[in-house]
Amino acid sequence: MRRAVACFALLGFLASVSTHGPLAGHSVVRVVPETELMLTILQSLLAQRQSIDVWKEPACVYCAVDIHLTPLEFDDVISALREHGFEPKILIDDVQSLLDSQRRPLKFKPGSAVFDYGKYHTLDEINGWVLNKTNVYKEITSLFNITKSYEGRMMTGLKISTPSPFTKPAFFIESGIHAREWISPATAIYMFGQMLDRYKIDSDITKMVDMFDWYLLPVTNPDGYAFTWTGDKNRLWRKTRSKHGLCYGVDPNRNWDMHWSSGGASKDPCSDEFCGPSAFSEVEVKGVANFLQGIKGLKGFIDFHSYSQLWMSPWGYTKKLPTDFKQQDAASAAATDALEKVYGTKYEHGSIANTIYIASGSSADWTYGKINVKYSFGVELRDTGKYGFLLPEDQIITSGIETLQGLMALASYVKDN
Ligand SMILES: [Zn+2]
Repeated sequence: MRRAVACFALLGFLASVSTHGPLAGHSVVRVVPETELMLTILQSLLAQRQSIDVWKEPACVYCAVDIHLTPLEFDDVISALREHGFEPKILIDDVQSLLDSQRRPLKFKPGSAVFDYGKYHTLDEINGWVLNKTNVYKEITSLFNITKSYEGRMMTGLKISTPSPFTKPAFFIESGIHAREWISPATAIYMFGQMLDRYKIDSDITKMVDMFDWYLLPVTNPDGYAFTWTGDKNRLWRKTRSKHGLCYGVDPNRNWDMHWSSGGASKDPCSDEFCGPSAFSEVEVKGVANFLQGIKGLKGFIDFHSYSQLWMSPWGYTKKLPTDFKQQDAASAAATDALEKVYGTKYEHGSIANTIYIASGSSADWTYGKINVKYSFGVELRDTGKYGFLLPEDQIITSGIETLQGLMALASYVKDN
């Protein structure tokens, strides 16, 4: 009886939804496995239903798992979960309403000269921003091209290099490798905007900028990112857009040539974690790897993702800790402490495999394991699940401000260690 009432309450919640659109009635539910057995059951339940879009994978006992369900999947999955003792809670009751509330106002003019850091931007607007910054700050910036994407889009980034009597170490920021994680490029762009606009104005910023040659690749997966802008139906796309049989896309953060396909990745081309037919099969990933190999003195690397608020270091492919873990994690701690001081936003830190889940073939594992960038990180930005991948625009600037403080603390640590 209790179960029937609870189930009715869940359904009643959904019944209030009355929007139209491709994601109308779609929900995101959270379950927490409380035993090893429940964790295993959940993993196999989701593996059996490959079509389900998992926002947060089952990783450990007492770790939340977020599942995006269509109205057709809902009843079946919820009863299967309840049968195994789970108590599903609704995080987002209607994905479409959330998207509708975030729709870009019509007054917004694409290509406008003033870049609004408080908005999400299309790939063209982001490339326009890179071009604009390299024009305005000619003396200290340059534009770099990585390669053309699978669909022929040029991957363009921005380098900041201030005058120095000696060769400086380099720091590379990679964002937007997963298409739907829009807060990643938005946060990175905000930080680089501040680093340029406040250079020689703000002493902390100036010190930070002068420490390294800074590279930003704002959109590492341009085809996927452009695809997420082609209508609500595609907003939650994660992978690249290369074609593999009947399915599209490779998970570009499972495609790096470092313990490739050795756990936490899928061989199924239709899976969201498809590692690709071979390591570096994706032209975008191979292009970034080649570019990184060409940077002399690369000392820091961050790959920004969302969501979960985690600052993580290698390894992703194994729960074993690398020899440099103590220093890497101390750098993460410095970053998260400084970040939290701004608005109280709490981040956890640790190794990727121990903090989130085993993931092989990731960028941070490759930069650390193959090209010796000791300070390599994967960072999951805001939030912890209230909005997930659909973080409202009014959190972009706050995310940018706090993450910049984190990056500043991290840069100081890396410089001295
Ligand atoms: Zn991601």
